[in-house]
Amino acid sequence: MIIVPEREIPALLTREASYKAVSDVFAAMASGDAYNFPVVREAIGHEDALYGFKGGFDRVGSTLGLKAGGYWPGNLEKHGVINHQSTVFLFDPDTGMVRAMVGGNFSTALRTAAASSVSINHLARKDAKVMGMVGAGHQAKFQLRAALEQRGFEKVIGWNYHPEMLSNLEEVASEAGLPFEAVELEGLQEADVIISITSSFDPILLENHVSPGTHIACMGTDTKGKQEASAELVAKATLFTDEVAQSVSIGECQHAIAKGLIKEGDISQIGAVINGAHPGRSSDDEITLFDGTGVGLQDLAVSAALVDLAIEKGVAIEVDL
Ligand code: NAD
Repeated sequence: MIIVPEREIPALLTREASYKAVSDVFAAMASGDAYNFPVVREAIGHEDALYGFKGGFDRVGSTLGLKAGGYWPGNLEKHGVINHQSTVFLFDPDTGMVRAMVGGNFSTALRTAAASSVSINHLARKDAKVMGMVGAGHQAKFQLRAALEQRGFEKVIGWNYHPEMLSNLEEVASEAGLPFEAVELEGLQEADVIISITSSFDPILLENHVSPGTHIACMGTDTKGKQEASAELVAKATLFTDEVAQSVSIGECQHAIAKGLIKEGDISQIGAVINGAHPGRSSDDEITLFDGTGVGLQDLAVSAALVDLAIEKGVAIEVDL
């Protein structure tokens, strides 16, 4: 069995490798060659932790396995380690033998950023110039870095519930040599692309904050009850997602579905656009919205890439099990 320790992963996993792994597995999901297993998520009644498993099988990528982990709210304070903890296990689909154990903390941020990045590449207008951000936490920095590589952006604008965190966005914009401007929500009308990545339970982005032709990637809503965009805004957009079953139950589309404003059939898999089975954006005035709910197959895909990279760079640990 190969072990890829968490400490090696930031130096191994590039945005390019994450993008390719995530794009390929989205395509395989849409063509019916890969599927996610039902998610298990439990409040374990210890340390207020939420723990669970996200698994799947990708026949094309020959990837079988699961991500185990969750959220321990007291970790940082009590133990000095981050609150989100996860580990990926890969198995040989031909034999069921365990193949690898891979740290899943850093790669979660890169695989999530790769998902919105894939959506921007396929759905944003080619002439997009202004990148808008809603959210400025840990994930937001990864999201913004990856997004800025997809178009010739000239400026970053951002809003956050906690304005003191906006310096995170300014830092990433300045790394890319771009100006940053903090705006009110109405100011987001200037954006050609908007990523939302917050832990909000109430709508932030409303119809009057978004101009025609904008591409929105809603990335924060990954649980029942969370919400970043109003149901009316969602209903106005042409909708795409990683996985429709998750989009309607735990993703951004759950609220528009509950209000009867959209039907499950209104939401397309982003993989269908990647495969050329769906045309994607159909006009410069259309609002497109990608509901990135986060699927286990994304984790497995980047972890499989990490195993190859770790072997290539000589940092993989091999053990007999
Ligand atoms: P973080 O704690 O570092 O940042 C939280 C962000 O949410 C900050 O911008 C904060 O200001 C904002 N926020 C907090 N309370 C708010 C409120 N009441 N209203 C509006 N905004 C509020 O968290 P993070 O690691 O950056 O994660 C952000 C979100 O992304 C979380 O909801 C997380 O579950 C989700 N996430 C999704 C995926 C996916 O695949 N879709 C993957 C990882 C994380």
